[in-house]
Amino acid sequence: MTTKSKFQAIKGTRDLLPPETALWNRVEQIAREVFATFGFGEIRMPIFEPTELFARAVGADTDVVSKEMYSFDDRDETSISLRPEATASVCRAYIENGMQQLPQPVKLYYTGPMFRRERPQKGRYRQFYQIGAEVLGGSDAPAIDAEVIQMLMTFFDKINLAGTRLYINSIGHSADNCRRAYVEKLRAALQNVKDNLGADSQRRIDTNPLRLLDSKLESEQAIIETLPHISDHLCDDCRANYAAVKSELELRGVIYKENWRLVRGLDYYMRTTFEITAQGLGSQNAVCGGGRYDGLVELLGGPPTKGIGFAIGEDRLILSLQEGGNASLPQGRDVYIAWMGQRPYAAAVRAAKNLRKAGLSVELPPCELKFSKALGQADKIGAKFALILGDNDVAEGLSTLKNLADGTQQKLSEPDLIAFLQQNQSK
Ligand code: AMP
Repeated sequence: MTTKSKFQAIKGTRDLLPPETALWNRVEQIAREVFATFGFGEIRMPIFEPTELFARAVGADTDVVSKEMYSFDDRDETSISLRPEATASVCRAYIENGMQQLPQPVKLYYTGPMFRRERPQKGRYRQFYQIGAEVLGGSDAPAIDAEVIQMLMTFFDKINLAGTRLYINSIGHSADNCRRAYVEKLRAALQNVKDNLGADSQRRIDTNPLRLLDSKLESEQAIIETLPHISDHLCDDCRANYAAVKSELELRGVIYKENWRLVRGLDYYMRTTFEITAQGLGSQNAVCGGGRYDGLVELLGGPPTKGIGFAIGEDRLILSLQEGGNASLPQGRDVYIAWMGQRPYAAAVRAAKNLRKAGLSVELPPCELKFSKALGQADKIGAKFALILGDNDVAEGLSTLKNLADGTQQKLSEPDLIAFLQQNQSK
């Protein structure tokens, strides 16, 4: 039951509570383990940055920057924004910390909250959480693109995320001019159908026609299908690069589907872009997006640097795990200590200390309860076992352990008790 409190969390934000937070921790832990096997180390960055960093990196004309950032003036009147994404910060940190001096490439991952003032709905929040990774510096060999994607799919596999689909595309290279030529063709084609497009899309014909391919507006879908495809306009280098990325994915047994409309909402991407969808999420079914961004570090004032990365939407990942029934949570407690009497209480405090030291989760009621009441409490919090301590048990030097699932009881000495509980511990 919820009660109405005087203060409520701001629209689009929410509290993450136990036991669900155990699932969040497990997902993050598996990400850390999988990413470490690919040689990635963790970076922790500030949650706010100069507004200009995002305007420059993400693009002043993107929805994220132009409509969705939480920006405010600091006391010295510089504009600061809560980070809407983390790639810009990772690149800033790479430059600021002289990471180009380290052996290249530098492989980093992060986890944490991001902020975008979007319209809240299932799987879309104003404070949401991402797990992301970036490879900066060194070569732009297609094997790197494929390995980053392979790492992602390994992670999704490890957490048992059901119904994942990987979509890939190449959006060409502005330096090779193939993207520029394609954008001009696209713009010309869009001018011909302008009157049939919505207001947002009409505006984007001038500002960012590529973004139109992302449109989810029902009335625009048939029109978009008639537009020129970028794959028919890639230059020789970009075409060869895309073919090589696909064959590197095949070499690794990574299954993908091509999607020519996958352009992604942030300006910094070039060549490889990818997105992963999962089941049970309705219209917000993308759990991860990423791509190559070779020009970004330079755009932020650093040396020419190759880059590729991705961001996983952790909120959606958790939702999909829950919808798919793959979200079994650890039991409430390993053991509940039911005690009655003064000597048993001292024994209970000692037992709690020793059991916790052995890594078991223990609930020790702070006040004396009748055994029947205590066992009821133990059931309520989902304990697996109850340790029953009365005067007789203390006198015998043994404790009675009751299995709360089947009601069986046994008497055990303390070392046997710890060994038995550890064997039966919830993982
Ligand atoms: P992006 O940073 O836009 O490339 O998004 C990467 C991933 O973050 C998406 O695939 C989503 O899973 C997730 N994401 C983006 N925006 C939100 C949001 N407002 N609420 C929840 N998840 C989001």
